[in-house]
Amino acid sequence: MRNCFVPFCDIQCKSMEKRMMFLPPKDDEIFEKWKENLPKKRPFKRNDRVCERHFHPEDVVKTWEHIINGQVFHLERGKPRLRPSAIPTLNFPNEDEILARKANRKRTSNVGTASGGAGKESIKRQRRDIDIAKENEKPAIKEELIILETVVELGDVDESHNELKRNVFTTIYDEIYEVILPSLLWGIHRDPDHGYFAFTCFDGNLMNASKVVHVDNELKMNVRIKNVLISSDQLDANTLNTDFISTILSEIDDTIICQGDDPKCKIYPEENSDLCDHCILSLNME
Ligand SMILES: [Zn+2]
Ligand SMILES: [Zn+2]
Repeated sequence: MRNCFVPFCDIQCKSMEKRMMFLPPKDDEIFEKWKENLPKKRPFKRNDRVCERHFHPEDVVKTWEHIINGQVFHLERGKPRLRPSAIPTLNFPNEDEILARKANRKRTSNVGTASGGAGKESIKRQRRDIDIAKENEKPAIKEELIILETVVELGDVDESHNELKRNVFTTIYDEIYEVILPSLLWGIHRDPDHGYFAFTCFDGNLMNASKVVHVDNELKMNVRIKNVLISSDQLDANTLNTDFISTILSEIDDTIICQGDDPKCKIYPEENSDLCDHCILSLNME
């Protein structure tokens, strides 16, 4: 999967083996520094990713650090992580390069106004000359052809987006064990018919799967807590990967939920309590 935020990086790295991709840190100050530093093709967002090429190698941590009885242990980690203070600074395209590529893209997409050049460009021009010759003969037909072409192109965009969604779903389905589960209480589930994958968190007190994260093959994610749907999102195929899911799971794992079992449970506990007010009430009635 290719989707580094840095312009043209994916194109340049086509032949490179799998690159490590990193989400920006949660810390607002460092996030702003990433935003300031990165070349701007559009505003940098929290779910955008930046590949390892833009960081100093020492900022990429490849071992887990555990401190047990005051002693530090390093374990190889499956997934490298960024040092919290790391900021992307390396291998950015320069301004001229960005402008040149932008101009080039405009020229090739702007049929009829190109001024020629070498290679493909001049072939296009020749074809255009022929088209113009034809156009003088049968102008009406030419117009119709242009409209037809536009329709086909739009269809292609839709089709390729659906294909991207399917590819992303299949990639994650196949690499599901790369998702880092927040704890041993979490489990992984995959529909044998490839309709969805899901993650559940078992709750020992409730004796039930209290948290369920379900992603269908259209990349729609539903999150249920205590069997109540609390969010339903269309995930972005351009940024979705196993890292992203690991982050979502970790956030959902951090959500503190009511430990009561009243049918009208409000899911989230009251302050300074393990229970919501409904569950507190029903407990007092017993
Ligand atoms: Zn990159
Ligand atoms: Zn409750």
